[in-house]
Amino acid sequence: MYETLALYIDGEFVSGEGRKTQDVVNPATGDVLGQLPHATQKDLDRALAAAERAFQSWKVSSPMDRAAVLRKVGQLSRDQAKDIGRNMTLDQGKPLAEAVGEVVSCSEHADWHAEECRRIYGRVITPRNPDVRQIVVREPIGVCAAFTPWNFPYNQAIRKVAAAIGAGCTVILKGPEDSPSAVMAIARMFHEAGLPKGVLNVVWGDPPVISDYLIRSPIVRKISFTGSVPVGKQLAALAGQHMKRATMELGGHSPVLVFDDADIDRAAKMLAKFKLRNAGQVCVSPTRFYVQEKAYEEFLAKFTEVTKGVKVGNGLEDGIEMGPLAHQRRVPAMSKFVEDAKKRGGKIVTGGEPIAGPGYFFAPTIVTDLPEDSMLMTEEPFGPIAPIVRFKDTEEVLKRANSLPFGLSSYVFTNSLQTATKVSNGLEAGMVNINHFGSALAETPFGGIKDSGIGSEGGTETFDGYLVTKFITHI
Ligand code: NAD
Repeated sequence: MYETLALYIDGEFVSGEGRKTQDVVNPATGDVLGQLPHATQKDLDRALAAAERAFQSWKVSSPMDRAAVLRKVGQLSRDQAKDIGRNMTLDQGKPLAEAVGEVVSCSEHADWHAEECRRIYGRVITPRNPDVRQIVVREPIGVCAAFTPWNFPYNQAIRKVAAAIGAGCTVILKGPEDSPSAVMAIARMFHEAGLPKGVLNVVWGDPPVISDYLIRSPIVRKISFTGSVPVGKQLAALAGQHMKRATMELGGHSPVLVFDDADIDRAAKMLAKFKLRNAGQVCVSPTRFYVQEKAYEEFLAKFTEVTKGVKVGNGLEDGIEMGPLAHQRRVPAMSKFVEDAKKRGGKIVTGGEPIAGPGYFFAPTIVTDLPEDSMLMTEEPFGPIAPIVRFKDTEEVLKRANSLPFGLSSYVFTNSLQTATKVSNGLEAGMVNINHFGSALAETPFGGIKDSGIGSEGGTETFDGYLVTKFITHI
């Protein structure tokens, strides 16, 4: 059974009553899965009022109570992972194993915030005057508006919700209208876990209309957005205009540096599979492959062999390793990258075209011989396309890797400790992965620098964006 689609406001699931709806479509088949209700302005006002009211008691709730709800959600999430994952494959397209894996691993975000929320500390500052007591306390910032995307619909939403709720904030979450089932499941589980009404509210609708209304509302004190750089900049600008704190987890164009001394066979096999995870629709996807001259031919041959062997199809079928793109609009977006690459002298080693049939499929694609200023080397592809180019030495590749305005993730393969140290110091990125993929765990901070964002999610940094500092002095 696909999730029942509704708004979740003040502890109630609401739909119908003449509200506008939109079709939710299976990207593997084009079939309509359900109707998603859009929030009216009255709904948004109700959600704002509920979140404001609930904040008065939630902000002073015991961390033990907040932890209990989060722990329960972690458990429910594990128990229901198969069903939630199946629905995510239906409305987002990723292979079932990836979808279920996303739910299971993200149950840990609920656990982590349950643990960490008991460790929100202040401090005592030694006073100049011994009769004075100076204390710093950290308090929840208030009502938060969160906007989450369609590529990891479960992961992106639970991270924001768990952090806000764990900190003692209340939230209005607008999830991805194209792939809404994961966010519906999150609302359902928090409801079942006994979260007081109004602490979490879920709304749907036209993204710019909803974000504009919520960010301008004087009730909202903080916003958190995951999505593209241009939209993030618009939302951060609006937040700035209204002096609201913003956490931004935006796009990237992650460089991969493969040095001659690396285990080339291992690197090529690992990277080819990792590149096609979620059909490349991953903000930290490896997207610019720089391979040192001597290793280049061997790397390209192995990477191509693995890429060609990846089984593409409906994510519900056995053995499928890559599903469709999440929406129809992403197919022409991929073709545009390929057209530009061809015009710029790029060679298509494999793929390069949409796959015929129902659904929004694009063939896993490898492009070589691209100039540095081509579209594929400068704009985030957000799809199953890998540009692979050569480099000569460390200084040169660092310069090229750092040449874009993005700074999210980066990947390095080398067996030299000296090289690893040099590039991990030199890469302008929020995350550096050397010889393995280790980002996005609950206990590690996730976030970008430069145009890729502001702030981190996860790790001990996770509550920073949701707390304000208050200084108290008395004599
Ligand atoms: P898009 O820029 O139209 O939308 C990206 C996301 O932002 C969607 O979830 C959308 O609902 C939301 N959005 C758009 N305008 C908004 C607004 N004014 N207020 C609030 N939310 C808004 O592009 P798209 O075609 O959906 O996705 C493609 C691009 O989005 C990619 O190039 C990629 O860079 C980016 N993206 C990034 C992430 C990420 O994890 N950082 C996730 C999804 C999409």
